[in-house]
Amino acid sequence: MSNLGTYEDAFRSFDWSMASKEIGYGDKGMFNIGYYCSDRICELGHGQKLALIHERFSGETRKYTFNDLRIYSNNAAQLLTRIGLNVGDRVCLFMDRIPELYFAFLGVLKMGGVAQPLFSAFGEEALEMRLHDAGTRAVFTTLKYVDRVRHIRRNLPELQWIVVLDAGDARLEQGEVSFAMESVRGSEDFVVHPVGPEFPSVLHYTSGTTGKPKGALHVHSSIISQYITTRWVLDVTPEDIYWCTADPGWVTGTSYGIIGPWSIGVTQIIYDGRFSSSAWYGIIEKHKATIWYTAPTAIRLLMRDGLDPVRRADLSTLRHLVSVGEPLNAEAVIWSGKAFGRPFHDSFWQTETGSIVISNFPGMPIKPGSMGKPFPGIVAGVVDEKTLEPVRASGTVGLIALRPGWPSMFRTYWNNTATYEGKFKNGWYICGDKASVDGDGYFWFVGRDDDVINTGGHLVGPFEIESALLEHPAVAESAAVGKPDLINMEVVKAFIALKPGYTPSAELTLSIMNFVRKRLSSMAMPQDIEYVDALPKTRSGKIMRRLLRAKEWGEEIGDTSTMDKD
Ligand code: ATP
Ligand code: MG
Repeated sequence: MSNLGTYEDAFRSFDWSMASKEIGYGDKGMFNIGYYCSDRICELGHGQKLALIHERFSGETRKYTFNDLRIYSNNAAQLLTRIGLNVGDRVCLFMDRIPELYFAFLGVLKMGGVAQPLFSAFGEEALEMRLHDAGTRAVFTTLKYVDRVRHIRRNLPELQWIVVLDAGDARLEQGEVSFAMESVRGSEDFVVHPVGPEFPSVLHYTSGTTGKPKGALHVHSSIISQYITTRWVLDVTPEDIYWCTADPGWVTGTSYGIIGPWSIGVTQIIYDGRFSSSAWYGIIEKHKATIWYTAPTAIRLLMRDGLDPVRRADLSTLRHLVSVGEPLNAEAVIWSGKAFGRPFHDSFWQTETGSIVISNFPGMPIKPGSMGKPFPGIVAGVVDEKTLEPVRASGTVGLIALRPGWPSMFRTYWNNTATYEGKFKNGWYICGDKASVDGDGYFWFVGRDDDVINTGGHLVGPFEIESALLEHPAVAESAAVGKPDLINMEVVKAFIALKPGYTPSAELTLSIMNFVRKRLSSMAMPQDIEYVDALPKTRSGKIMRRLLRAKEWGEEIGDTSTMDKD
């Protein structure tokens, strides 16, 4: 039996205060996420339990208990207080997925600061834009990245401190401080700052898939949503070994890579290494992962590499698989059944929503290609683009809309209230994605609002085209966009990366075109196919269709600061 029990029962009886009571939120007047993810687990008697199994790309493994988490995060909090940071100051975490990243994140929250995690892969321009926008006061980093911060520092008048975690004997500059988080002692009893539930906690920049990234501001009570969704959607119990593959530079890596799991007191794996099928399966086997939360981009890469690497590993500990970030193709769900003996469960949410809002829940029948149903406590609908009223007939495509008010919802876009307010219409929060709902209440993703293709008056979603393409044996990955056409306004163009062993040819193009036409329709059939080695993606692994589309239309490509340039 899953944590959720029966979806229908849970949906009927749900009340956010139940979730809040389960973690004792507000007991002893405490609302700070930093406390709930470390001190409280120790107070419950689990201080010696493993919180973190950390593996570097070199294979070196280190383990930390919840008590370590408590002390090291206290150390970070104490340092920030000592160097004069104030409650509410933004503190950036700019480093690889090293253990200190996780300690510092909780430390910032414990002292009442606002944590701003950023991908270490960001170049100077991407970094400067986000630090400037946030008026960041301090940056935690390592020698590997400190020069990037130094180079842009003169343009960041509000930046007071750069904290270098591995400075050793290296010479530091003015305004820099050396801080080896694990070697200082004495913060046993740091007094966690008594924030209120509505106090800002995390400032997360969106992935930048559709335009310039926006800074979504979250508050401490978000933990209520993150806790209960980790229990009910990811099915995490304290006995599990949980692996979330996301970097905290992306919201998945904080909501479900820090806050959700540690509020439950589960042991989690952090792998700070590059992707390869064998390395990933090796992590699951070595650390006996039971729950795995990852993204469609990674799943498609695993599919590309086939079943052999799966068979070489012992993955028998896995009991629940969940996907997030992009639509999960039906083919991926079916493949996962073959490869792992269990399907990937889709989960839909955004930086703005702070936690999962629509999902295929454990125990609920999955319709491959569907995102599933709304989380209990979330009122979700599909509304007509013009009237903003729920669409009448099942299967009608409209905008995904949510009734505001769940705990982890963002409270504003930093420095951008107008855009924030523009997201609320007719009593709904409008997500910016298109979908339909079927007669059983399952949501079917169509595409991002901007990505839907209008060909001769017919709307086709890139997701269904890309899903059909993925079923073709030669296709590893694809992106479908509209390209200009005199007669039809737009026609479908597909950018395709092929599986190993296939090479582009006129016959292959024809075979792929016909394949889509038969599966979907002549409207959805790509009129043009371009073969590429790789598709442009954000750091969080999302396909940036807008770049491909801009090229087709001869437009400016816009912000590329989040693009994965490796
Ligand atoms: P930006 O807002 O800067 O353009 P972004 O929307 O990609 O970037 P995120 O908040 O990381 O930034 O991503 C949320 C979006 O990701 C959703 O609005 C949706 O388009 C997509 N998404 C996430 N999960 C799913 C899913 N399970 N199925 C389909 N799409 C998903
Ligand atoms: Mg978005």
